[in-house]
Amino acid sequence: NSNKNKFFVAVMGAGSVGKSALTVQFTQGIFVDKYDPTVEDTYQKTLELDGDQVTVEVLDTAGSEVLVAMRELYMKSAEGFILVYSIIVKSTFYEIQDIVEQLFRVKDEDEVPIVLVGNKIDLDSHREVSTQDGKQLAASYPNCDFYEASSKERINVDNVFFSIIRRIKEKYKKEGPP
Ligand code: GDP
Ligand code: MG
Repeated sequence: NSNKNKFFVAVMGAGSVGKSALTVQFTQGIFVDKYDPTVEDTYQKTLELDGDQVTVEVLDTAGSEVLVAMRELYMKSAEGFILVYSIIVKSTFYEIQDIVEQLFRVKDEDEVPIVLVGNKIDLDSHREVSTQDGKQLAASYPNCDFYEASSKERINVDNVFFSIIRRIKEKYKKEGPP
């Protein structure tokens, strides 16, 4: 189906980095200050991008997958990945590398569409991860874009999702859809 217009994206990252806030800000346009950290849910949004109507299904993961197998299951089925860390907590940046390692192992493909997101830039005075470090990490993966964002102030939230959709589309253009 060359007219594929539905895309499945998983949002992953350490606890408390703002995965749910990012997802809800994008799909509903509101900032949720307190969101149950154990809730894992999917959200959907239809939008027009580059002249096409596309629907993006977003899995907001809870990072508490007791079973590694469960994580692997949605890694297999998702077409693109938004990997979030918090610019104010360095350890969340290091966790990204473990996730990507597992991701490439599970996907077993040369290229996986990824957007790396350094969230909470409204808290810049508490920054622990430099913009340069984020950029560099993203550049070390194929087909990986990078944004710093604020789910709270709605900075770059749409751009993150536009980028992942475009990356998935480009991949299918090259390789043909599944
Ligand atoms: P998750 O565990 O990754 O889903 O993180 P949440 O979305 O539940 O967010 C964890 C906490 O960080 C909550 O108190 C949010 O209000 C807060 N938070 C999320 N995104 C931002 C942001 O961009 N800026 C600020 N200042 N706080 C944020
Ligand atoms: Mg959450």
